[in-house]
Amino acid sequence: MNVEFRNEPFTDFTLPANQEAMKAAISKVRGQLGKKYPLVINGEKIETMDLLVSTNPAKPQEIIGNFSKANTDLADQAMRSALAAFESWKRTCPKERARILFKAAAIMRRRKHELSAWMILEIGKSWAEADGDVAEAIDFCDFYAHEMLRLSGPQPLTANAGEENELYYIPLGVGLVIPPWNFPLAICVGMTSASIVAGNTVILKPSSETPAIAYQFVEVMEEAGLPKGVLNFLPGPGASVGDFLVTHPKTRYIAFTGSKEVGLRINELAAKPQAGQLWIKRVVAEMGGKDSIIVDADCDLDMAAEGIVAAAFGFQGQKCSACSRAIIDESVYDEVVAKVVERTRALKIGTPEERLNNYGPVSSKSAYESILEYIEIGKKEGKLECGGNKIDTKDGGFYIEPTVISAVAPAARISLEEIFGPVLAIIKAQDFDHALEVANNTEFGLTGALYSRNRSHLERARCEFHVGNLYLNRKCTGALVGVHPFGGFNMSGTDSKAGGRDYLLLFTQAKSVAEKF
Ligand code: NAD
Repeated sequence: MNVEFRNEPFTDFTLPANQEAMKAAISKVRGQLGKKYPLVINGEKIETMDLLVSTNPAKPQEIIGNFSKANTDLADQAMRSALAAFESWKRTCPKERARILFKAAAIMRRRKHELSAWMILEIGKSWAEADGDVAEAIDFCDFYAHEMLRLSGPQPLTANAGEENELYYIPLGVGLVIPPWNFPLAICVGMTSASIVAGNTVILKPSSETPAIAYQFVEVMEEAGLPKGVLNFLPGPGASVGDFLVTHPKTRYIAFTGSKEVGLRINELAAKPQAGQLWIKRVVAEMGGKDSIIVDADCDLDMAAEGIVAAAFGFQGQKCSACSRAIIDESVYDEVVAKVVERTRALKIGTPEERLNNYGPVSSKSAYESILEYIEIGKKEGKLECGGNKIDTKDGGFYIEPTVISAVAPAARISLEEIFGPVLAIIKAQDFDHALEVANNTEFGLTGALYSRNRSHLERARCEFHVGNLYLNRKCTGALVGVHPFGGFNMSGTDSKAGGRDYLLLFTQAKSVAEKF
C-alpha cells in the first residue's frame, strides 16, 4: 500500500481475450437479473414490501432488480446505526481504514467486467464507457486511501519555542451520500469512499435509476471487511427519505452530485438548523453543466471536430462534462460544422451490449421525453443539421438520434439550459473575444475546452475561460483521478475537486493541539 498511486488502465477491447471476458460477464449478470434486494442497515438485510424497480433503458420491460424502498422510519433506523458505528469507526486507525479501500479497489479490479456489465444493462453504457466508470471507481478508492495516509501523517507547522504543536484531521460524523445515475459506480464510490476513509459513517441513498450497481459496491465493501453500520444502503424516494435525512439534526454533512435544482434545494434545507442540532451542516454539492468547446480560427480542425463529437455524444451526452455547445470562429465555421456532422453520422447506434456500438439509449422515459422536448425547442431556435428524431426499436428502448443544431444564438434556451442528452448546439463566434464571452454566458462553470494554435489565445483562456476544468487542445470530458481534480464554478457546484488533494479535507475537520512544556 505504499506504492505510489497510478491510474487504473482502460481495457483494450480489440483483444479477443478481453472481448470474451466481457461477453461472459454480460451473460453472468443477465443470469442474475430480476432478483429482490434488501436495504442494508447495520449490516442487517431488511426487505420491504414497497419496491423500486430498476429496468434496462435499452429494453424497458427487462427488470434489472427489485429494490426494497426505505421510508422515514427505516431512514431513522439507518441514522441510529450510522451514529453508533461512528463511535468506533472514528477511532479506527487511518491505516486500517485505508486498507479497506485498497482491498475494495483490488476486489473491483478482479470483478471489473462484471461491474461494467451491470452498468451496460442498468443504464445503457457502452463497453468503453462502463469500463472507464469502473476504472474511475478503483482510482477513487486507491487515491483517497493514499490521501488518508498523507493526511494522518505529521502536518507541517511553524515551530514555537517551549510548545509541542500538532494538527490532526478528524472525521465529521454521519454523512448522507447522494449520487447521480450517470456515473453510478464511480461517483457513488468516490463520495462514499472519501467519507469512510476519513472516519465518517455513511447513509448511502443511491439514485433510483441505478440501485443495482450501487448494491454491488455495498457488497464489495462488505467483502473488503468494512464493519457493520459504517455503510448503510438506503434506496428511497428523494422527496420523502431524502428530505428527512437532509433535515435530520444528526446529519453532519451531505455529499451530493446531481442536478442544480436538487442541489440547491438540499443546500437550502441543510442550512436551516433543527432542534437539537449542534453544527452547521456541510454541503458538498456538485451539480450541472453547460460545457463549451471553442474552436479558434487557427487550430487542427479535424482534431477539434473529433473532440466535439466524442465529448458531445459519449454516453449519449449524459455527462455533466459533456460538450453541449460548440462555439466556432466564423472563418472556419462551415468547415467544422461539416466535419462534426460527418462524424456524428458515423456513430454506431445500437444496443450497448454489443462491443462495436458506441451510442446507446438515454437513461429513462422521463429523460427521453425531456430531451425530445428540447429538440423541438432547438429546431425552432436553430438549424437542424442531423438527428432530431427518436429511434423506434422492437424492444422499445429510449433511443434518440445524436442531434446537431447549428446557427444557435448565444442566449437561446438550448444554448443556456442543461439538456443532459445527445443535443449539440453550435454557435458562430465573430472572433476569439466573442467566443470567450459566449463560453462564459451561462450560470454554470464546469468544464470547457479550446482548440487553438494561437499562444496568446491559449494563455487568455487559462485566465478568462471561467470553468473548474479547462482543457486546451483536447476534449472536455474524461477527467482522470489525481490528474484532473474535478469540480465546477458558479451553479455547477461547490468546486469540491473530486480526485484531488483538497477533496478529503471536505470530509474532515482539523484539530490543532498545543502543549506547553
Ligand atoms: P438528480 O438531481 O435528479 O438526482 C441526483 C440524486 O439526488 C439522486 O440520487 C436522486 O434520487 C436524489 N434526489 C432527488 N431529489 C432529492 C431530494 N429532495 N433530497 C435528496 N435527494 C434527492 O440528478 P441526476 O438526474 O441523477 O443526475 C444528472 C445531473 O447530475 C446533471 O445535472 C449532471 O450535470 C449532474 N452531475 C454533475 C456532476 C458533477 O461532478 N458536477 C457529475 C455527474 C452528474
